[in-house]
Amino acid sequence: MEKGSLSIHSENIFPIIKKWLYSDHDIFVRELVSNASDAITKLKQLSMMNEAKIEENPTFKIDVMLDEASKTITISDNGLGMTDEEIKKYINQIAFSGAEDFLNQYKDKSDKEQIIGHFGLGFYSAFMVAEKVEIHTLSYKKDAQPVIWHCEGGTEFEMKEGTRQTRGTDIILHVGDDGKDFLNEFTLKETLQKYCSFMPYEIYFTVVGKAPETDEEGHVIIEEPKPINTILPLYAKSPSDCTDEEYKEFYRNTFKDFREPLFWIHLNMDYPFNLKGILYFPKFNTEFDSLEGQIKLYNSQVFVADNIKEVIPEFLLLLKGVIDCPDLPLNVSRSFLQNDGFVRKISNYITKKVGDKLNGLFKTERETFEGFWDDINPFIKFGGLKDEKFFESIQKIYLFKTIYDKYVTLDEYLENAEEKKVFYVTDRLLQSQYINLFKAHELNAVILEHSIDTAFISHMEAKNEGVSFTRVDSDLTDHMKESDDSIDPEHIKKVQNDLTGAFKSAVGLEKVTLKIENMKDASIASMMTLSEEARRMQDMMKMYGMGSMG
Ligand code: ADP
Ligand code: MG
Repeated sequence: MEKGSLSIHSENIFPIIKKWLYSDHDIFVRELVSNASDAITKLKQLSMMNEAKIEENPTFKIDVMLDEASKTITISDNGLGMTDEEIKKYINQIAFSGAEDFLNQYKDKSDKEQIIGHFGLGFYSAFMVAEKVEIHTLSYKKDAQPVIWHCEGGTEFEMKEGTRQTRGTDIILHVGDDGKDFLNEFTLKETLQKYCSFMPYEIYFTVVGKAPETDEEGHVIIEEPKPINTILPLYAKSPSDCTDEEYKEFYRNTFKDFREPLFWIHLNMDYPFNLKGILYFPKFNTEFDSLEGQIKLYNSQVFVADNIKEVIPEFLLLLKGVIDCPDLPLNVSRSFLQNDGFVRKISNYITKKVGDKLNGLFKTERETFEGFWDDINPFIKFGGLKDEKFFESIQKIYLFKTIYDKYVTLDEYLENAEEKKVFYVTDRLLQSQYINLFKAHELNAVILEHSIDTAFISHMEAKNEGVSFTRVDSDLTDHMKESDDSIDPEHIKKVQNDLTGAFKSAVGLEKVTLKIENMKDASIASMMTLSEEARRMQDMMKMYGMGSMG
């Protein structure tokens, strides 16, 4: 028997990292800026632990500089820097994470939520866009010497004495063909905003050599530099410290949606997992508005991806919101989650919170809830159809808008009904004749006009034993019928048979049954009804493209 360890040749593994590890080129921005952010966090923590001596009240910041002429992008921080030993350990050894090393070393003392790095591969994403990468760094350590490291994407690197005067690190990317898109000011800025909008240290973006803006008289406008990010995003604050205006502003800035959201849910949880975020219910307006939301997922204030199905239950993707969960089991490329029961727990928690909020609104602010109903009902119905648990939590608060413009729950509707039968309208215009008839007889009916209502009706029937839904143009209710003894039953039977025959030959179908009934309402001469069952059958056939029956 022979045992041994596999040897990996870095010249083989390197191209794999460059090409395959990360799905999107733009990820280098996230990785390098989060390394800069980690470098500052580490220094702050070391200083708090009295392990590092730094100036009083330091202004920590990250600069991202684009130089189009020399085709470079520089990411610069005033964090802890690196000694040459550290470069050898953390940079030259691929997949040796300094972040993990740090966390292990200061296990009990440091706050792990703050540190982003994890896999020791992020730095190499630089080579997805750069032909050559330079590191200019000076460690915070006493008597540390500045170091320059550079590498042209192969497995060879060079290290020499550096020139950097102040503590921190510059990463200089000499952008090659693969990354030329990022030499565009707007693309780079947009990418920074995408990933770094909520990062915890101020990030400044500058274009080197760009002529300053001037006013009409040619005077240079001197603008105070503004960071591209918000270091304490609203979701990270305690809900009791946030005003409605702030919630709305956060919504506008984050989603570029200038319509006001209907309401929102601030998620704020520390135990058993850490999760913060805000979910907004957007105004859905009409059925024709695309019902498409956006849920942005963050990990320690770094953007991970949009609409991750594993964490966010599908129906919640109709909402707009941000969720930050530092405990997410992400894999190296971060946009992918490791399959984990934990992720389910997060997803269940979010669903539960949404259910709680809706129930709370219903119970304490029924009028407000009714006001939202037209907008939110497709969402809530979709949620109930998709998620059994969600359905159970909210089934008692589904509202039905009646033909009298009132909102009632199923229970409230049935309280005043003679049988467990809900009459409904699917088209207020086409069925207006029936609506009038119902009104004339003081009968109730509800409006279910949305395309999701067909499925919703079946679901409600399945979940509420004995309850059936009947469209207003289906069987007449007993209230509307009249037994008229003056007419000979034999005569009715004959007319019925004749008409049935006529119908059969007209529509070419064998299975037609006709029933003639006398209506109470003398103002309506005649009215056709089609049984609920037959109509649903017809709708189903239409749906499957089987043509219509009549
Ligand atoms: P990770 O961040 O997952 O540890 P990276 O490949 O992104 O892995 O970085 C490797 C290591 O290099 C980091 O852990 C850190 O020790 C070091 N490093 C990278 N960038 C910087 C920086 N700007 N300042 C100080 N150290 C850095
Ligand atoms: Mg990193």
